Amino acid sequence: MDTKPSVGYLGMGIMGTAMAGRLIDAGFPVTVWNRSKDKCEPMRAKGAKVADTPQEVVETCDVTFACTSDPTSARAVVFGQNGVLAGITAGKRYVDLSTVDEECVQEIAAAITASGGRFLEAPVSGSKGPALNGQLVILSAGEEALQKEVQPMFDVLGKRTFFLGEAGAGARMKLVVNMVMGINMVALCEGLAVGQKAGLAGNDILEVIKEGAIASPMYGLKGPKMLEGDFAPNFPLKHQQKDVRLAVDLGDKVGQPMPLAAAANESFKAARASGKGDDDFSAVYATVKQP
Ligand code: NAP
Repeated sequence: MDTKPSVGYLGMGIMGTAMAGRLIDAGFPVTVWNRSKDKCEPMRAKGAKVADTPQEVVETCDVTFACTSDPTSARAVVFGQNGVLAGITAGKRYVDLSTVDEECVQEIAAAITASGGRFLEAPVSGSKGPALNGQLVILSAGEEALQKEVQPMFDVLGKRTFFLGEAGAGARMKLVVNMVMGINMVALCEGLAVGQKAGLAGNDILEVIKEGAIASPMYGLKGPKMLEGDFAPNFPLKHQQKDVRLAVDLGDKVGQPMPLAAAANESFKAARASGKGDDDFSAVYATVKQP
């Protein structure tokens, strides 16, 4: 007999689809919902139920996960009509994996717990590949007992789970990590751009970086694709810009000057303004390089 708890998943974007797929493969009974319903079809084909509203997912599942774009969407699925909050009753468990700011996390945590529900934030580090392979790093915070309860599901999704304390700490950690990643991406773009304009071969630049102390999996993964002009989205640029912007906001809040993050934010903003928001975040290369 299958004793696995039923899992709801809200948001069938790049990350949600990959994670829900793994949970189905691991034998959890999964119910999915997405604002644009057609994106639920791949999971239906894998055996998931498809719900009409977030409320229905929460009402029918033991635990509900969500992974949507940004603070606006995270709030919309919770507070909107037939949203998560409408389905929360005593003991209902809600885990939000979206990358948002701490104010958003705390607002959602307060609303869920005020209705008798239980809340955990769990933004993830790692992109489409790690999500498909169960290699994410999970940055959880909120109710620690809930983290322990959902750890069997986190074990299907990730290679390591951190518990960071009160709700909001996961968002802070995620923004710090993605800010560093965004700055590093723009640094690689500038290096490739100036090097090639100075007559060096792009592949040689990547090979030299690879052999030294600044080698990184991200440079190894993204560099060759950038030179080939392959910007198919694993991590959409619009989300990277959102993360650097929210990190700059965090710097404002705590009084930390962040000139590099601010500069990276401007590069991603310019790329977004030129229509690259849905491309991979490495598409900032074309904006940095300029003709
Ligand atoms: P995505 O492919 O762009 O998917 C975004 C999802 O959010 C879609 O399901 C979309 O629904 C939903 N959504 C957007 N606005 C909404 C609204 N107002 N109401 C309800 N749903 C809404 O994004 P993703 O790459 O999966 O990323 C999801 C989250 O994970 C983001 O916070 C991102 O920063 C974070 N993250 C992403 C990566 C990555 O590498 N991709 C890695 C770590 C963390 P529709 O289909 O209807 O538009």
